[in-house]
Amino acid sequence: MIDHKREEIDRLDDQALALLIRRAGLANDIAEIKAEAGEPTLDSTREAEIVNRLCLRDLGPLSADDVRHVWRAILSSSRRVMDKSEDLLVCEAREREPIDVECSDWTVPLFVPGKPEVIAGPCAIESREILDRTASVLSSAGIRILRGGAFKPRSSPYSFQGLGEEGLEMLAEAVGKYSMFSISEVLDTRCVEVVARHVDILQIGTRNMANFELLKEAGQAGKPVMLKRGMAATVDEWIHSAEYLAVNGCERIIMCERGIRTFSDASRFTLDFAAVAEVQARTWMPVIVDVSHAAGRRELVPPLFRAAMASGADGAMVEVHACPDQARCDARQQLTPEAFVEMLD
Ligand code: PEP
Ligand code: MN
Repeated sequence: MIDHKREEIDRLDDQALALLIRRAGLANDIAEIKAEAGEPTLDSTREAEIVNRLCLRDLGPLSADDVRHVWRAILSSSRRVMDKSEDLLVCEAREREPIDVECSDWTVPLFVPGKPEVIAGPCAIESREILDRTASVLSSAGIRILRGGAFKPRSSPYSFQGLGEEGLEMLAEAVGKYSMFSISEVLDTRCVEVVARHVDILQIGTRNMANFELLKEAGQAGKPVMLKRGMAATVDEWIHSAEYLAVNGCERIIMCERGIRTFSDASRFTLDFAAVAEVQARTWMPVIVDVSHAAGRRELVPPLFRAAMASGADGAMVEVHACPDQARCDARQQLTPEAFVEMLD
């Protein structure tokens, strides 16, 4: 007798599942029609109407709460089917690949999976001499990417704002001399062209992660782009900002976790290592960790660097300056080239 009832239940479950699958197909059709019409996909008023209508029916032994509970699950699976946001280009299922960077007639693979790539150099480009002394030690230590800001985002308008194009020329000279690659920040849409002309990788800073016009422009510049996480941005917002780059033609994207604002006063910003793992899991982009801007003080840089390496990140960024105490920007967090080399060992 029980067996008979159980068979009947199994049959009903099969039918219920087949109906749910048909229902999901219809939800998907509606999502496509709405997308074509440019209408928002999700409609919570319609969802409420669906459930309220059912609750007014004869529910037999079920309560309205039971029905609400079951339909909450059905509507949530519908939302997932209808929400096209998981179809992001940067979330496509594909292997993490090296970032190929042009070098005269050939390309060099940087950020090779399994070989953490360390970017180092001064916060800002200040003089030919400082840059040369720094790059000389870094290149001997095997560092391939030299950083240096020429357009600096400063909290105070009275602080050093960077040398602009003159600084970019110094950076290009240094990487030419030491066979390195360069990275420098694009601060707004107006400077994308000049930075792209002089450097190998464009950097988008934390304050600009959600500057969508800049993301579009940088994505179209034909260079790899390193996108820092906004200091108060969620992982999802960060990934969507990367999508702006991808949809604008940039496939060579490096994500950089640089610490977020929290209540902790142990460091300038708090490194979110879970975000590193999460972005690696959800996307095909390499994820590196800027330990210097997170640290804020040079004594914290080596432990955070070790933590970054242990986290499985695809690399790190470290500020290194030939005379850090005289640096015109971020003096307290920059390492001497010697301390940097010691940290690498
Ligand atoms: C930088 O790397 O030069 C910089 C300004 O960093 P952030 O955007 O993370 O503050
Ligand atoms: Mn800095």
